[in-house]
Amino acid sequence: MKIIIHGGFFSESSTNNETKVAKQQALKHIAMQSFQFLKHHSALETVVHAVSLLEDDELFNAGIGSQIQSDGKIRMSAAIMDGDSKKMSGVINVENVKNPVQVAQMLLDSDDKVLGGEGATSFARKLGFEEFSTEIPQRRAEYEAKKAPTGTGTVGCVALDQHGKIAVATSTGGKGFEIPGRISDSATVAGNYASENCGVSCTGVGEDIVSGAVAAKIVTRVNDGFSLKDAFAKTFEELKPFNGFAGAIAIDKQGNVFHQHSHPKMVFASFDGENIVVFD
Ligand code: ASP
Repeated sequence: MKIIIHGGFFSESSTNNETKVAKQQALKHIAMQSFQFLKHHSALETVVHAVSLLEDDELFNAGIGSQIQSDGKIRMSAAIMDGDSKKMSGVINVENVKNPVQVAQMLLDSDDKVLGGEGATSFARKLGFEEFSTEIPQRRAEYEAKKAPTGTGTVGCVALDQHGKIAVATSTGGKGFEIPGRISDSATVAGNYASENCGVSCTGVGEDIVSGAVAAKIVTRVNDGFSLKDAFAKTFEELKPFNGFAGAIAIDKQGNVFHQHSHPKMVFASFDGENIVVFD
């Protein structure tokens, strides 16, 4: 059993040390807590659990604490993928739900697996997801001041369970200040992808992640026999010609855990029941 989570990118220059320590603590706690959960649950259930905890923590740009778009509204995106069944489901630009990843989970067994905009929000309401504002005062103040939000980050999780099954989930509040209707990578196969061999969750500039088809390429390369390390190296090399800004976390079926980022600095934590590794 293995778990790795990420909390997106953050800028060392515009984030204070207090926030960095708070993020380290939060990621460490959530990785360890989610590993306990993994002992009694599937990889799929665990990635939803871990990402829900990350969405509930306002330190991260997903669920509570999400960034605000150019028209003053928050729209969130999230997806899950089960490596074994190859089923992926997601919501794009959903509004006023506390845990977008849980709405994505509800779509996994539906014929229509990825819903966007008003359709995603009304689907959530029909299932009983209550109206919940994920806005926090700090994001509103940044929006009013037309300042790029600091210290936030998309979240994701990859888990390998005791039966050797892999799952991945990713959730985001987006880039901040985007044009309403913009589609994030997080609920696409570029940002969130898995097979029975490997699972990958990405963060960074969604447009770059989509151009680089990052998660789908890494997983496909592992399916074709690449090691995780080589699959990451080749995929990140291909981002260089257009200075693609991306980071990714992964686990393969042998339990190898890997992460790489094109720019400093992606925040992450992994746990295998004995060793906790947290970004420094
Ligand atoms: N990838 C996300 C997006 O572009 C943002 C992020 O990862 O910080 O929507």
